[in-house]
This record gives sequence, C-alpha cells and structure tokens, in this order.
Amino acid sequence: MTNYFRAFYYLHSMMQRAYWKSDRLMKFQNKQLRNVVRYAYDNVPFYHRKFRELGLKPADIANSEDLARFPITTKKEIRENLHDMISREFKIQELKGISTSGSTGQPLFLKICEAEDELRKAKHLRANISCGQKIRDRWIVITSPHHFGVSTKLQRVIGVYVPTPVSVFYDVSTQALTIEKMNPDILDGYSSSILLLAKEVEREGLRTIKPRFTIGGAELIDDSSRRLVEKVFSVPFYDQYSCIEFNTISWQCPEKVGYHTDIDSLVVQFVDNDGEVVNEGSGEVVCTSLFNHAMPLIRYAIGDIGVQSNDECPCGRTLPLMKMIEGRKDSLLILSDGRILSPRTFTIAMSMFKYYAQFDQFRIVQKKIDSFQVRIKMKKNNVDEGVVERELIAYLRNVLCLSTDVASFDIEFVDDFSLDRSGKFKIVESSLPQSFFRGFS
Ligand SMILES: [Zn+2]
Repeated sequence: MTNYFRAFYYLHSMMQRAYWKSDRLMKFQNKQLRNVVRYAYDNVPFYHRKFRELGLKPADIANSEDLARFPITTKKEIRENLHDMISREFKIQELKGISTSGSTGQPLFLKICEAEDELRKAKHLRANISCGQKIRDRWIVITSPHHFGVSTKLQRVIGVYVPTPVSVFYDVSTQALTIEKMNPDILDGYSSSILLLAKEVEREGLRTIKPRFTIGGAELIDDSSRRLVEKVFSVPFYDQYSCIEFNTISWQCPEKVGYHTDIDSLVVQFVDNDGEVVNEGSGEVVCTSLFNHAMPLIRYAIGDIGVQSNDECPCGRTLPLMKMIEGRKDSLLILSDGRILSPRTFTIAMSMFKYYAQFDQFRIVQKKIDSFQVRIKMKKNNVDEGVVERELIAYLRNVLCLSTDVASFDIEFVDDFSLDRSGKFKIVESSLPQSFFRGFS
C-alpha cells in the first residue's frame, strides 16, 4: 500500500532539488549512484557476476563518469535473467510487475518495489506541478486500464493530486464526451491520445473542453501535431519524455527551452553505436536508476535517441536540459468505420492479453483497411497455438471494440522476425497507401 507521507516527502524534496546549485545536484547524484552500485553488487546476482567478470569493485564506480567503465545492460539480458536481477532482499511475488514491449515488440517484464512506485508518482507530479498543476485540479489522464486504481480512497477523500483515468481503449468520440463532462483543468495522457482527442474536438466543435494546459508523454509527436493540440485547446502543450522502465526521464517546463532531466533519480548518458559516452550532440539514451533497489538497472539502453544541451533554462531550475529526436513517432492507423487508432493502443492491448508472457516477440501489420495480420513468435512452452489464436482474436475484438465487419485478424505463428530495410522494427505498422492518411497524420 502506498505510503503517502513518503510519497509527499519525495515530492517535496524533488521540488527543492530542481533549484539546487549544479555542483550540489551532482554530489547528490554521485552519492546515490555509489549507494545503488554497492547495493547491486551485494544483493543482485546478475550484477555481482558482471562486476566479477569485469574485475571491477563497487568502489571503482565513484561517480557518473566512472559509470562508463560498466557495460550496457541490454533488454535481452533482462529477458534472460529476470530472477537473477531481483535483489535477494525482496521476494519477487511481493513486487509490483510492469511490462513493456519497448521498441522491439519483445515483451519485457520488470519489478519495482513500493518505494520506487511512490518515487515514480512523485517524479511525474514534479513535472506536472512545475507546469502549473495545483493540488485540487481536475486532472484527467487518458491511459491504459493497467494504470487504473492509481489513487487510493484516502487520496480521493482528501482530493489531493487525484488523477481521473479515461481508458485509452474507448473510441475517441466516447473519450471526448466523457472528458467534456469531467470539465478538466489538466488534460494528460499518451501524446498520440491527446492528438487524436484534439482532432475529434476540432471536428465536432466541442469547445467546452477547456483545460488550463495539456501534457503528453510516453511517445513523441512532431511539431505540427503539438501546434494543432495548442491551437484546438488554446492552451500550452507540455511534452514529457518517459518510458515504462524508468517512468519520467525529462520534461518541458513552461519555458520549453528543452527537457529538464531528472538527474536526481537517474544518471542519463548518451552513447554512440559502440556504447561509448558522447559528450556532445546526439546519442542513444542510457539510464541508471538511482532508487530501484528491488531490481536495479545499471546503464540500461532504452532505444531512443536524445540530444545533449548546455542551454540554461530561464525558469531557474538547474536540472540540466536535453532535447529529443522524434525517434519513436509511429504512424496512426485508420479503420474502416472512420476511427483512428494510435499504434500504442494495440501494444497496450497486447500487453494485457492473458498469454502475453508466453510471447517472445510480436508484430501487427494492417494489411487492408479491414484486415490485420498479427505475427507472433512464441516462447517454448506448452500453450496450444490454436487456443492463443482463438482467444487473442476474441480479446482484441472486445477490448478495441472491433466488430467483424470493421476488422478481421489473421494470426500467424512464426519462428523468427526480420528487420525492415532500414534496420528498424516497427511493432505496429500500416501497409495502406499514404493517401489514406491525408488529413489525419
Ligand atoms: Zn525550465
């Protein structure tokens, strides 16, 4: 059960740290880093083994620069060593599980402890409060039903920073009507969901949805889409860079000079193709969590490209800035009934399917306007493919409200996946001609 005193303590300290002098922040970061490295060495078999193999001791990693001596932790390693990555101080069944399909369509399961869960909530709130969220604001979040129930009875009774979730699986017109009734102060959610909502509001002229500002996170949208959201709602749109593995990583403040990076809970590095740290320009984002003791992640590569920035923000916050490359922008899917879906809706739906843990990798391709191919590589197990096929089709129809005349599903089980010509792997893709999307994307 969430300890709200601890969560508010985290939030209070974080709000203050955002204005600390840079050298004080760095000292704090390095101290937490030494703690987590020592802890991982002492308690986490996977990292203990890695240190031993490299001939390193925790004392060799005294600061974030020394961290470059440690190799990248890959998704593959996590997938193959989940039990060995859990601290001996925790029982795996008592930890909260989170899952992602990341950028590869390969399910990845992670565990966090209660304190980490509270810290994540505090991190998200710090970003929102920095943009002007107030304690009793009506805060509407378009999100996965996975995240429902995030507020407790106590939190609802006292009405403090309570998010009201709206399911990302509702079709956008239902979302819009639901949100209109809620009269939100803050409109928050996946960036693509906020974009689709803005388009619906514009189309239907729902001018009564008047938040003070909008927040998009978890995926990146382009500048013209951001401008559209701001134009439709006549309020600012603040972008947040986050992922399942670490929650918020960096976020825009009202000055929007760049993204303030949460360096008091993460070490964020940018690396080249060889895993070497680059000191300027762009690189793959590699993060080390400073607080998740249940399952520490040291130098984990997320799969996004970020750009370092030496700019200072006029807002006075000293958390350093970074910029983003629109690396994760996926194209939207249009359905035969006129609905537009974010690819994320599909990946979230997949991650909630009862046999998701049995999938080694999956990919969804829209072949025709009313037909989808779902290709799945299963792990070696005893689950009957016929059962998975039948249940998956019924499940997707139900959760995405897709009747048989709107979409057919063709489930195919494969032994392996190949990359496309660009070397990239799109988990959800449409092979419809671009003319379909004119005016939508
Ligand atoms: Zn700022």
